[in-house]
Amino acid sequence: MTVLESLEFDNRFTAELPADPNPSNVPHQAPGAMFTRVDPTPTAAPEVISVADEVAEMLGLTAEQLASDEFRDMVTGNLVLPGMDSFAMRYGGHQFGNWAGQLGDGRAINLGELVTPDGQRQTLQLKGAGRTSYSRTADGLAVLRSSIREYLCSEAMFHLGVPTTRALSLSLTGDQVMRDMLYDGHPALEPGAVVCRVAPSFIRFGSFELPASMGEFDELRALADFTIREYYPELWPADGNPTPETYTAFYAEVVKRTAETIVHWQRVGFVHGVMNTDNLSILGLTIDYGPYGWLENYDPNWTPNTTDRHGKRYRFGNQPGIGQWNLAQLGNALYPLVEDADALQLAIDGYVTHFQSQHQDMMRSKLGLAEWDADRDEPLMVDMLDLLQDAETDMTLFYRGLANVSTDDGIAADDRFAPLLDAFYVPDEQLTDELRGRWDSWLDTYVARVRSEGTDDGERRDAMNAVNPLYVMRNYLAQLAIDKSETGDHSGVTELLDVMRNPYVEQPGKEEFAAKRPDWARSRVGCSMLSCSS
Ligand code: AMP
Ligand code: MG
Repeated sequence: MTVLESLEFDNRFTAELPADPNPSNVPHQAPGAMFTRVDPTPTAAPEVISVADEVAEMLGLTAEQLASDEFRDMVTGNLVLPGMDSFAMRYGGHQFGNWAGQLGDGRAINLGELVTPDGQRQTLQLKGAGRTSYSRTADGLAVLRSSIREYLCSEAMFHLGVPTTRALSLSLTGDQVMRDMLYDGHPALEPGAVVCRVAPSFIRFGSFELPASMGEFDELRALADFTIREYYPELWPADGNPTPETYTAFYAEVVKRTAETIVHWQRVGFVHGVMNTDNLSILGLTIDYGPYGWLENYDPNWTPNTTDRHGKRYRFGNQPGIGQWNLAQLGNALYPLVEDADALQLAIDGYVTHFQSQHQDMMRSKLGLAEWDADRDEPLMVDMLDLLQDAETDMTLFYRGLANVSTDDGIAADDRFAPLLDAFYVPDEQLTDELRGRWDSWLDTYVARVRSEGTDDGERRDAMNAVNPLYVMRNYLAQLAIDKSETGDHSGVTELLDVMRNPYVEQPGKEEFAAKRPDWARSRVGCSMLSCSS
């Protein structure tokens, strides 16, 4: 009898898709396989640092189970339960625009598909639990700093209402891991850690691209059928015989979901950082939190990823276009199942229309407008986004401040502007009289526009505050929690997670978590720039 005995697994991915006949950890190509079975590597001294209670509850884990040694061992790769069927997924991907061939889960090990109390299945996946046959020359491990970042951000995104994979737990392994954080010839030992990630599935665009590129069309079809049947059941034909139209409809739905998720990123100021096709979920979830970042001063050209600092392929303002580019690669991969380029083209054309309408609606809500009047509101938006870049202006605080701008007649210009002041990083120098004058004239237009709809200021504020978060996972906040954790005090992680649970509601006593980036963080590693080293 064990405390985890009640956990029921239904491992459909491994039951229904072709396995690699060579379950060895030695790197090898695995033609025709969708996965390679692998056990996680046991660790020296596992210790759970934090559990996300909402995820535990979704999975039906009890307080007794969470407190048990078995749970600690399960989420750190030291215990594989009898019902599990652990494996690394085989996939390929386009990295920074170039086809990279077979990649696969090099440091993620799927444990199994847990049946939740409401009858859903959720895959438990350990990130950093040791080598797999897809690790190539790397170690399959993860360090504490990047694990904290993934753990906190995936939960923060969930609470922000952004589709995302989840994180059940963050643990130390007790092992030390060597990393050259800046790739500058200064390797150092860092604490090893494991995040237990949770999602219905971790299938990626690259999962389809690899078999398609290798001419493994039966496997490609098997994967597509599996994905549609399990995750897009409304598209699965009643007679069980998918047609080219079934795959086109599936593609169109992935197009739609991807567009919606990226609109959410643009709404909250999230920069993924590595939008390679192996890092895009077939379920439209935000997946693989690596060198991501949050816009502090609004700058569409910003990317946190130092590996991408020259081309800035994955900068904030480029995310919508990259989503489309990645979807085009997915479309190419699905072509053998559809064999109708026009049908696929039509589906991806839907990206632009869907993205634009969702994006417009998102901007409408961020501005507190009831309707989008394109003739008036397009220029209003464009002017605002220009102004936001003319001086360093905190995106998050700007929208919260705008919600408090009064539309009263006769209010003095300074009083009307006052709620926005806090959003400026260097108001004394950067907010010149000229810029202030342009903001005042923009506010005249904005106020007139709001009044034309007759919305009451209080109602507008509430509506805006419901879509414009006050608390986001600011890069420097994560870094402060990491600094503390590396000294053995994990309270910063717990506190940050707690604040991020209610990102839209002002939390008394938590003002520091809503504060704009302090000066010291402007150019500190981990705050304004991150490498892929993790
Ligand atoms: P990423 O860009 O972080 O999603 O990773 C790209 C590829 O590199 C994936 O196949 C990962 O599994 C693999 N990878 C990244 N870091 C490691 C590591 N420390 N050990 C093994 N494989 C890794
Ligand atoms: Mg990845």
